Amino acid sequence: MNQPVPSIQRLPIYLRFLKGIRNNGDVYVSCTRIAEEFGQLSVQVRKDLGITGIVGRPKIGYQIEELITAIEHFLGWDKKTDAFLVGVGNLGTAVLNYPGFVEHGLNILAAFDNDPKKKDLKFPHCKVYDLDQLEEIGKREKAEIGILAVPAGAAQEIAERLVKIGVRGIWNYTPRKLDLPSKIICEDVKLSASFAVLSRRLINEQ
Ligand code: NAD
Repeated sequence: MNQPVPSIQRLPIYLRFLKGIRNNGDVYVSCTRIAEEFGQLSVQVRKDLGITGIVGRPKIGYQIEELITAIEHFLGWDKKTDAFLVGVGNLGTAVLNYPGFVEHGLNILAAFDNDPKKKDLKFPHCKVYDLDQLEEIGKREKAEIGILAVPAGAAQEIAERLVKIGVRGIWNYTPRKLDLPSKIICEDVKLSASFAVLSRRLINEQ
């Protein structure tokens, strides 16, 4: 990837802030204002925003609406991206219920679980199917992303099945390192790893 990952990771935070000030009636914003909000250097903010292709105007800054459009277009959040989710437990349920992902264009077409008690559960945008229906539904409806929220032991097998039905990217919430064809884009989510770093830093600074 050409663009630096930390810059990409900061864009959603800027986006949320920009939508907030836009909704309050602001029209222009400077890098300095964004930088102050997030305790960053203005030069870093300019660099981050620059990856979207947008350039601010001296003394004026950016037109907020244009900036929002540029960030959403850069992230592909201005269009719908279809997904399947497998594993409707604590994490899977949180993802299915979180409206923020819908706002970012994530369109979960169907969720799957192997627990018969979960079958037919309804979520705001989709329902839960038995895992056995994955291939049948995958043939009918095409998804670009597979979201994995199953126990680690099941992750590799489910990921392979998702790849077989055509997903190009795996959003892997499980701790299992997946072994998939190199053309498959895999992004691991590490909430616990992040919490471990926070906890250790709190101990270090006691
Ligand atoms: P959970 O036990 O609440 O939910 C797992 C769900 O997967 C259950 O509904 C279960 O019925 C279903 N399931 C089990 N085997 C399956 C299979 N073969 N096919 C389809 N569905 C199956 O677990 P959780 O707390 O939601 O955690 C889910 C995963 O996320 C685990 O791998 C866990 O280690 C991981 N996790 C990741 C982070 C993170 O930082 N990314 C944090 C906590 C947990």
